[in-house]
Amino acid sequence: MRIGVIGAGPAGLTAAHELASMGHAVTVFEAGSEPGGLARSLRLWGHTVDLGPHRFYSSDRRVNEFWLRIVGRDYRMVNRRTRIFFEGRFYDYPLRGFNALGNMGPWRAARCLSSYLRQKCWPDGVLDEGGDTFESWVVRRFGRELHEMFFRTYSEKLWGIPCHQLDADFAAQRIKKFSLGEAAKHMIGWRDGKHKTLVDQFAFPTGGTGMVYERMAHQIREFKGDVFLNRPVQRVLRDANRVNGIEEPDGTRHTFDHIISTMPLTLMARGFEDLPPATRAALDRLRYRNTILVFLLVEGTSHFSDQWLYIHSPEVKVGRVTNFRNWVPEICGDSNTSVLALEYWCFDEDAIWQAPPEQLMRHASEEVVRLGLIPPSSVRDAKVVPLRRSYPVYERGYREAVNEVIDFLSGLEGIQAIGRYGSFKYNNQDHSILMGLLAADNLGRGATHDLWAVNTDYETYQESTRISESGLVSGSAVTAS
Ligand SMILES: Cc1cc2nc3c(=O)[nH]c(=O)nc-3n(C[C@H](O)[C@H](O)[C@H](O)COP(=O)(O)OP(=O)(O)OC[C@H]3O[C@@H](n4cnc5c(N)ncnc54)[C@H](O)[C@@H]3O)c2cc1C
Repeated sequence: MRIGVIGAGPAGLTAAHELASMGHAVTVFEAGSEPGGLARSLRLWGHTVDLGPHRFYSSDRRVNEFWLRIVGRDYRMVNRRTRIFFEGRFYDYPLRGFNALGNMGPWRAARCLSSYLRQKCWPDGVLDEGGDTFESWVVRRFGRELHEMFFRTYSEKLWGIPCHQLDADFAAQRIKKFSLGEAAKHMIGWRDGKHKTLVDQFAFPTGGTGMVYERMAHQIREFKGDVFLNRPVQRVLRDANRVNGIEEPDGTRHTFDHIISTMPLTLMARGFEDLPPATRAALDRLRYRNTILVFLLVEGTSHFSDQWLYIHSPEVKVGRVTNFRNWVPEICGDSNTSVLALEYWCFDEDAIWQAPPEQLMRHASEEVVRLGLIPPSSVRDAKVVPLRRSYPVYERGYREAVNEVIDFLSGLEGIQAIGRYGSFKYNNQDHSILMGLLAADNLGRGATHDLWAVNTDYETYQESTRISESGLVSGSAVTAS
């Protein structure tokens, strides 16, 4: 079978890798100049850096086995350290007893407890027939006070809309497994005595996250597949309800028996001629959020010990700061410097998206000093990397719009849409890898996995696993994003 794959990110490469290893003729078209998509790595000032923090985490046996097959022994376990910066204080995340209480003070802690208990005894109802919003979902589970402290400001920076306009799906996908019980255990320092939980440790490739995807691309070529870089796909072609190829911007066409698309769902679907008006209207309702990454080369190697910090404080625009010194030593250069990445989120029409790089660099340098993370005048160099459409926005009503698009695509044969912007799902690497594995399974082995259910309600029914220093082990999973 001839298979065309659009996009060489984790989803596309995984599908291509599996299908090429089964002997299918696979061709990957990637718009960018390197494989890896949002999970690629960059070489900057002698350091290897990712596009923001990229913690690999999964409890799915298939995903973990696949990842280990690619990475081999070239990874290290990292002891996670992450904190939240809010109202001038650093809160350990996951929360820990004395640190949280010390920061909040007894009065605030009592208010958190009472607003939590109020929701347990007299929960707020679902707000209207549109169902829960992010805000109502979080308030009902954790209380209004904790919503204000630990959810609202960060979510509003990330999504650019108030929490009551954000769909509860975001909460359900990202914080469903976060329980106050687990947090309470952490707060009092309780451990089950067996091993560190996944909250404490994660696996990280010694060559940076991008190493995984460079290896996948290399292996696809070894299996006689093609991975073409700098080759954007303009549109997907179809004859009646059968997808049969792709077209490049210069009009060159390629025929395939099946297409796996990881390009933005909106662009892919809009490329079809004769789109039903309801589908077109649905596509107009789907928005993506952009990320601007400002990398700073700073003097010194021990500014703060976190892999990344969540910056909830509304008085600065930055949302997250990654310190690549604190991941694995292999990615750090041997000079007396560190690389930080500051993340800013915005829409296409926001002024910051149009701002010149020099202005962004100046702004980021000022904010990181203002937060007290580095001393003044320690920034030596900076680089701006804009990432368009890095987050599918789960605005209220988005699900109905996506369902409309799914209805349209379900009427077509010969195409599977997977991946983060490819299926409009707020995926991490593991979800995109799983989608790639399942898409290959559908095509190569005649399976009938529902790919739209991954990262929503897909249950693996498999024994839970985790990656440890010595490889894959069985283990219970605890998540915290
Ligand atoms: C700031 C940030 C932090 C993150 N942190 C984590 C983390 O800690 N842990 C984690 O697991 N994940 C994290 N992620 C998410 C992770 O990067 C994504 O889940 C993953 O990269 C998605 O893979 P994908 O293949 O679905 O999509 P992508 O990585 O977006 O790949 C899609 C590919 O398609 C290509 N493409 C697009 N249009 C076309 C076209 N027309 N023709 C050809 N090619 C095209 C793109 O260039 C891209 O290479 C983070 C993401 C961001 C932005």
